[in-house]
Amino acid sequence: MHDFRYVNGRLFCEGVAVEALAREHGTPLYVYSHRTLTRHYQMLARALAPIEDTLICYAAKANSNLAVLGAFAGLGSGFDIVSAGELRRIMAAGGDPRKCVFAGVGKTEEEIEFALRRGIYCFNAESEPELARINRVAARLRKVAPVAVRVNPNIDAGTHHKITTGTYENKFGIAFEEIPGVYARAARLPNLRLRGLQMHIGSQLTEVRPFELAVRKAIPLILELKARHGIEFFSVGGGIGIVYQPALASGPEGWWRSAAARRIITPERYAARLVPLLQPLGLRILFEPGRFLVGNAGVLVVRVEYVKRTGTKNFVIVDGAMNDLIRPAFYDSYHEIAPLRRKSGGSIASDVVGPICESGDYFAKDRPLPRVGEGDYLALMSAGAYGSVMGSNYNTRPLAAEVMVRGRQSAVARVRQPAARIWEGERLPRWA
Ligand SMILES: *Cc1c(COP(=O)(O)O)cnc(C)c1O
Repeated sequence: MHDFRYVNGRLFCEGVAVEALAREHGTPLYVYSHRTLTRHYQMLARALAPIEDTLICYAAKANSNLAVLGAFAGLGSGFDIVSAGELRRIMAAGGDPRKCVFAGVGKTEEEIEFALRRGIYCFNAESEPELARINRVAARLRKVAPVAVRVNPNIDAGTHHKITTGTYENKFGIAFEEIPGVYARAARLPNLRLRGLQMHIGSQLTEVRPFELAVRKAIPLILELKARHGIEFFSVGGGIGIVYQPALASGPEGWWRSAAARRIITPERYAARLVPLLQPLGLRILFEPGRFLVGNAGVLVVRVEYVKRTGTKNFVIVDGAMNDLIRPAFYDSYHEIAPLRRKSGGSIASDVVGPICESGDYFAKDRPLPRVGEGDYLALMSAGAYGSVMGSNYNTRPLAAEVMVRGRQSAVARVRQPAARIWEGERLPRWA
């Protein structure tokens, strides 16, 4: 499923030894595989091809590096955005605003105006006050704003509580039962065009079942809105999960033959259950995958600074930290850890931790790892989604550098942030 593999005991990204990149660019370093993200996009596009009119809108928030956005723009992808800043990035990367949908519960007037002037495909609204605001901004600009409403189908996606979005406990969308009334009222707002219906039930779904339930539940509603308001699209949202845990040691191909793998979501299984439901709707169908496209296409490379043994623990202290990759601290998430040079010999239960002054600053706890020492490099696998984008300057640590690999070539996707840039915008007050 991805293009990171050992060749003669050294981890390669496509045709490039990852250690060569770590030496050239320093660590912590994100490394992305162009071929992996391209292949994932194409796998999904191929699986959905039986639907006549589809648009894949890559959810830029998963990884908004210009190199990543540019790669998807080159494939003809649309984009799911959640801020005006993301729209600016997409345009900077060569993406087309007319293929952008704008999600999120808190769009400001400035953001709405900016997106409307750039001619985005649709605003996916999450409340009636937002619809009223979009109508007002559009009237001021003498424009008609294309809108869809995000329906909350009240389906539990069965994923981590911080990334479940499709139940009435969440702040997202408008309750299923209220949708017909909301569309009827929105239809009376003169500067809105009701273009579609949107849904997104959560992230990192590892089975197709919740998607199927949600789509089945939405179908009568979609048909009603199509008949009454002439909507032209339905967006299924994103949320296709990825595999974070196949042991690299046994080879990803080996894992894909296991029993666990036979249940896991894939583009083919997703399409097999959803295409028969979506195709007869006679609408344009949007998909908003984020993690699925980029998650396994990136790793975070860190260097071992110290190995600290205490009475009960083996701490591997690395130069990357929660400010570079917050997922373990934030979602208790698992990232496979692969030494860039494969080690022989036994393993030892280790805590892999960063230098930040928080006990949440860890990448793994009691993980069996080969014995490593100062100067060894480790790759935190599957760090391409919700990794670098959630980076911060906590502890005045610079944002990590990023590199993209394509075949035997590599290119800097983001230079390491110089330390002085971190406080560049800060001022020492000069009190009178
Ligand atoms: C975050 C988000 C996505 C992408 O979710 P993934 O789990 O990364 O696929 C898609 N649509 C909306 C509205 C989102 O908020």
